Amino acid sequence: DRLLGDAYFAQSRQLFERISRTIAGGESSYARLKKGLELCFDHGEGSHFWDIDGHEYIDYSLGYGPLIFGHKPKRVIQAVIEAIERYGTISTFPYELDAEVGELFTELVPGVDLLRFANSGTEATMAAARLARAYTGRPKIVQMEGAYHGWADTHLWSSHPDVWRPQLRPYSPRPIPGSRGIPEVYGEALLIAQYNDRESLERLFAEHGNEIAAVLVEPVQCNSGVILPEPGYLEFLREITRSYGALLIFDEVITGFRLAPGGAQERLGVIPDIATYAKALGAGFPIAAFGGSREVMQLEATNQVMHGGTYTANVVALAAARAVLTEMKTRRDELWAVLNGFGERVREGLREACEAAGLRCIVQGIGPVWHIFFAKPDAPALDRIRNYREAHAYTSIDIYDRFNRAMLRRGVYFHPYHLERWFISTAHSESDVQATLQAAHEAALEVAQS
Ligand code: PMP
Repeated sequence: DRLLGDAYFAQSRQLFERISRTIAGGESSYARLKKGLELCFDHGEGSHFWDIDGHEYIDYSLGYGPLIFGHKPKRVIQAVIEAIERYGTISTFPYELDAEVGELFTELVPGVDLLRFANSGTEATMAAARLARAYTGRPKIVQMEGAYHGWADTHLWSSHPDVWRPQLRPYSPRPIPGSRGIPEVYGEALLIAQYNDRESLERLFAEHGNEIAAVLVEPVQCNSGVILPEPGYLEFLREITRSYGALLIFDEVITGFRLAPGGAQERLGVIPDIATYAKALGAGFPIAAFGGSREVMQLEATNQVMHGGTYTANVVALAAARAVLTEMKTRRDELWAVLNGFGERVREGLREACEAAGLRCIVQGIGPVWHIFFAKPDAPALDRIRNYREAHAYTSIDIYDRFNRAMLRRGVYFHPYHLERWFISTAHSESDVQATLQAAHEAALEVAQS
């Protein structure tokens, strides 16, 4: 990377080359790496991790979000080890952990009366959409442009349709596939609206009202940077879906067990019919879930809608989730004081650092998740970003990249892609916050002067 110098990741580069000889592209999830920034991981501990070249970082990426208690969360790991010793690794039969996690889950999440476990956010969202189609007997799902609901053929549409293009295509409700190999026919079962734009959704309901099974939405859109719902927007989604006999699905894969123990639905006060979970639910162990009202979930309970999986509700996943939910239930105030308090401090500090250096930016988020959008030189004057289109119009990829590298060199890691986001964990400390803000001041000045 020309911004870091060749020697910076010498060991990483060597290992990456070796990995790439057998693993396609050197990674098993798209866009985990950025070209020229092939950092290889050594280990993590709390809020920090180390690369194999020996650099230490304060981590604001946290494995794409699961590490809500930081790296190597002791209580969760201990609970998993004990559960393996007690049960083994896979049950395939119902067992006590099902009851324990189910009880904690439904106690913490207001809109979930019944749930099912899955293995990834992708699966949970596929299951939720199938359930909504079955319940309503209607074919189409509405998604927002710039949202991400996993990599399934049925949902990987219009996520970041123009991410590397200077100009956006004009908005159209027709979805754009996010990969080669996705049959067009899946796109026919989707419609695309603009987040925070009531009219775009009203129009879709007016034209296709009796075909729409559900609106599937990230309650806080966290895959185009972080975009907050405008006041009343989630209430509007609740009302319009109800009035047309469609369901509202919240994809809480990022917001669940993060904005509050009960996720966005608790913190923002709007209850969907179905919601999906992953990431923070396992604190780093692979587990996901979907659930909702008793009435809708009845179709799962009676097996009219098929959902399954060899690894669903396995011992490792459920033991981790039980430990996570127990922590969240018993230490709620303490944990969210850290997540919200430090989150707010870092957001404020980033804003101040960039302003002091004369860099135009918008830092927006809520509690433990946020993003920093840097303005293109010709960007319109905006005070907030309300959807993917505005993020695209406003954001300078070049300034983001330079700030990212300048922070990286100062030991602060956040994701190198300009539409990813920052996460904070309960393991972050006062000294992490101070070191981050000191780095931000220096990095912003460096970027402004270069
Ligand atoms: N939904 C949202 C909102 C996500 O951010 C993601 C992953 N980043 C997913 C679904 C997919 O989850 P997974 O990667 O666990 O399949």
